[in-house]
Amino acid sequence: MTEKKIKKSKNKLGIGWKVTIYIAAFTAALLVVVWLFQVVLLDKFYENEKMNELMSTADVIEKNIDSDELRSIIYNRASANGADILVITQTPLYQKTEKALSFSSILNSDLIVNYMIKQAFEDGGSCIRRSTEGGGKKQSPFSKTTSENMIYCRVLDEGGDTYKYILVSVTLTPVGATVKTIQKQLYVISAVFIVLAIVLGILLSRNISHPIIKINKSAKKLGEGKYDISFEGEGYREVYELSETLNTAANELSKVDTLRRELIANISHDLRTPLTMITGYSEVMRDIPGENTPENIQVVIDEAEHLRRLVNDILSISKIEAGMDSADVVEYNITQSVKNIIARYSKMKGVDGYTIRFEYDSEVTVCADETKISQVIYNLLNNAINYTGEDKNVVIKQSVRGENGKKKVRFDVIDSGIGIAEENIKYIWDRYYKENRTHKRAGVGTGLGLSIVKGVVELHGGKYGVVSSEGKGSDFWFEIGGVKE
Ligand code: ADP
Repeated sequence: MTEKKIKKSKNKLGIGWKVTIYIAAFTAALLVVVWLFQVVLLDKFYENEKMNELMSTADVIEKNIDSDELRSIIYNRASANGADILVITQTPLYQKTEKALSFSSILNSDLIVNYMIKQAFEDGGSCIRRSTEGGGKKQSPFSKTTSENMIYCRVLDEGGDTYKYILVSVTLTPVGATVKTIQKQLYVISAVFIVLAIVLGILLSRNISHPIIKINKSAKKLGEGKYDISFEGEGYREVYELSETLNTAANELSKVDTLRRELIANISHDLRTPLTMITGYSEVMRDIPGENTPENIQVVIDEAEHLRRLVNDILSISKIEAGMDSADVVEYNITQSVKNIIARYSKMKGVDGYTIRFEYDSEVTVCADETKISQVIYNLLNNAINYTGEDKNVVIKQSVRGENGKKKVRFDVIDSGIGIAEENIKYIWDRYYKENRTHKRAGVGTGLGLSIVKGVVELHGGKYGVVSSEGKGSDFWFEIGGVKE
């Protein structure tokens, strides 16, 4: 991380604070909603509910106004809802009343009944009033009422100057006192919840942040290059998984670091040997007359060649690793190309007694990157020569497999040498991997050859592998598509 980013992250709130703030905000929101509904809106809710009750009672009565059951319906509704009900049927000559009124009902007052009927006419057929409205004023019909009531009046126009009136009233329980009690309770509830939120916040944040802080500490050490650090995730699954991942990463980093150190040691050793040889032989040839022989010059040339290969390997692998390398695909005769490689290789090595046999059925043309595939074959051949047994035999086999149009060409490079131990096979493709056994030719390997093979074959979408048993030899193979018919 850059300096700037570290500074930025320092200004950010920690997970502990964040969790506490979220919980506090949630609690506050919860309390606000409770306050709103229980204190501020309680009166409105109560009034609404009562209003609905009155109207639904009026609806039921209206529906049954001509039924014989009307009286019992009125009584039932009145006792079920604690309401007072008065139904008046009025023709010009005749008035009939049906009622279920308690002793103290305000509907006993003709003044109020007349007032309500008048209001209902004025309001277009129905009206609803609270007895507090205009209460206290002398001219209000409600001025003498002691308790608070809600009255509903509906006028049914039957035509021919005949009207029916339904009046329903309920006593309203004073909400104010209830609100005060609830308010007092809410003070206590709010205090308890705020304390609970803080405690919960602290506990949660500890549980969540502690393991992360611990992992962060270890990660910082990892950043400083201490790869032997171990991450301990406890508390919950995500942290446990994170620590597992980091442990794997630390492990991998430590492996790469070891390999890198080994490579530097190997490369510097590998560079030093040929350089010492070149300087040594050159000095001898300069200083001692008669030592300027073709054999000595050949040693210098061989060692220079070895140096060249080493540098080339390092360049290839770093290119492939950087991912910048793309295949430069051309159509070419791969069988011929292999033959050329063998011919060149034999010349270069002086072939001190090695036999390289190339077995193939037919010449094959492929679409591939010739230079890179040649390097793959060269690397495998080179390894086979370096590791083969006393018989000094190496076989390269070419075979074509697969259906028309999807044909693949496979090459097996087989030697009869030391082979590879089962447990090491998975590592040999890793860059910088070099087995600790001494090479036949000291200082030949770089540990990069096979990882170049891997990189190039993967670039061509092909497959690669090895069949090997210790002491018996190895069969390194790779297979690529793009075979032309
Ligand atoms: P090197 O330059 O060391 O040969 P490579 O990447 O080509 O690097 O090979 C990695 C390792 O794989 C070698 O050090 C060797 O131990 C093993 N190896 C490769 N080819 C063979 C082979 N034909 N027989 C036995 N071991 C082999």
